[in-house]
Amino acid sequence: MGAPATKLAVAGTMILETRGLMKTYGGVAALQGVDFALKTGELHCIIGPNGAGKSTFFKLLMGIERPSAGQIVFKGRDITRLQAHERARLGITVKFQSMRVYQDLPVYHNLFIPLRRHHRAREIPAVVERLLADVHLSGTGEEYVRNLSHGQQQWLAIAMAVAAEPEVLLLDEPTAGMSAEETTATARIVKRLNGQGTSIIVIEHDMAFIRDLDSMTSVLHYGALFAQGAFKDIEASVEVQRIYLGTL
Ligand code: ADP
Repeated sequence: MGAPATKLAVAGTMILETRGLMKTYGGVAALQGVDFALKTGELHCIIGPNGAGKSTFFKLLMGIERPSAGQIVFKGRDITRLQAHERARLGITVKFQSMRVYQDLPVYHNLFIPLRRHHRAREIPAVVERLLADVHLSGTGEEYVRNLSHGQQQWLAIAMAVAAEPEVLLLDEPTAGMSAEETTATARIVKRLNGQGTSIIVIEHDMAFIRDLDSMTSVLHYGALFAQGAFKDIEASVEVQRIYLGTL
């Protein structure tokens, strides 16, 4: 019985935690004491109705806003006071909703730029091929980005974030503006990246996408964690259904 217990302990290591995280804007409490933990290798969705505090939580994790109180801990280290670029250097990478790709460059060059930091020039073509395959863009290396669909451009932006070899990848509404087919493909991409070992937090309100991801899910409501569990249990929860209908 000893070996499985050890494995469980390793799999359960926390990579990113928040403790009592609070944020007030003037008199408005956008977050009121959120204790959250992402396990190493976990894919975790954060959902909640409009105004629940999702964007605020994301901005605090990224380091573009400071909490009013509480702590953010990455691999046991308090990073609450670190700037966004310092967190990125530690391995926390963000793919914003509005992330820009270089429209007037070929796909290959968009990836070459972030890959230069981690790879020798001669290794880059093979890494680009692997990244493009991961995000459903095989064979598009020579295409100009402006000729890709909106969804394909978003996948390229995900590949650019992954090129930084993050330990934690933060995805902000990755399916915004996508078709149903692109949304389904994006769920496959996110699951594949998670399967390769990247710990991922997804902030999203597209329920079809979250259902496809079928992962651990936390529900924010009025700036507090309202529920947490496997997506199927969250979806079945009458209380969660009521907050989405606005009756709680
Ligand atoms: P969500 O992303 O879940 O829609 P937000 O994090 O954007 O929620 O907002 C949570 C609450 O904080 C809302 O009441 C919102 O009006 C308020 N809020 C967010 N950002 C600001 C800000 N910069 N100034 C004032 N209030 C804000």
